[in-house]
Amino acid sequence: MNIILLGPPGAGKGTQARHLVETRNMIQLSTGDMLREAKTSGSEMGQRVAEVMARGDLVTDEIVIGLIHEKLAGDNAGGFIFDGFPRTLAQADALGDLLQEVGETLEAVVEMRVDDDALVNRITGRSTCSGCGEVYHDVTKPEPSDGKCTRCGKSDFTRRADDNEDSLRQRLMEYYKKTSPLIGYYHAKGTLRSVDGLAAIEAVQTSIAKVLDN
Ligand code: AMP
Repeated sequence: MNIILLGPPGAGKGTQARHLVETRNMIQLSTGDMLREAKTSGSEMGQRVAEVMARGDLVTDEIVIGLIHEKLAGDNAGGFIFDGFPRTLAQADALGDLLQEVGETLEAVVEMRVDDDALVNRITGRSTCSGCGEVYHDVTKPEPSDGKCTRCGKSDFTRRADDNEDSLRQRLMEYYKKTSPLIGYYHAKGTLRSVDGLAAIEAVQTSIAKVLDN
């Protein structure tokens, strides 16, 4: 089963994707993570996208489609979770073609609905364990007082360079201008399902499980 998690920055796509990886043996394909890895490794492409990402703009379709193309050739275990991809109509068309090429289909597009005020609060207080990707929040889920991640025990937490108000405003603008049209696109294809992304993490997990099991 291959699915897309669709929603604005801070909707909780990464958190839900990690849960699906753990419980359903699915494979998370996050273009944001791939681009951050490219940036950290210092590759030529990573250097090219660093500034674009810091501003909160989208990188070119060509780059992200290329990244996804490479991953689709590998093992797909319990299916792929596309997290943060596609973000434009051109990417959505390309994904359809790529899946067809490898004999796969897209079973569901899960739209995670949230409101903008909640996003600003979620994103500006966010930190991530560099060991396992567990997400913490200054107010709702502070980093443990002993400094060790509750999930993996590592004590290195990072904050994303683009998790500040200016970048977030631009990332939201990009979402509404370029990504939200995908809601209509997948609705027309009959694959769109919506869940309340503002509910507690476990409640969102349950809603997504229902979508996948139906
Ligand atoms: P994310 O981790 O999904 O929030 O992505 C972080 C940043 O990476 C975005 O703000 C974009 O600059 C870039 N990015 C990630 N995925 C895509 C995509 N599918 N298309 C274009 N840019 C992307």
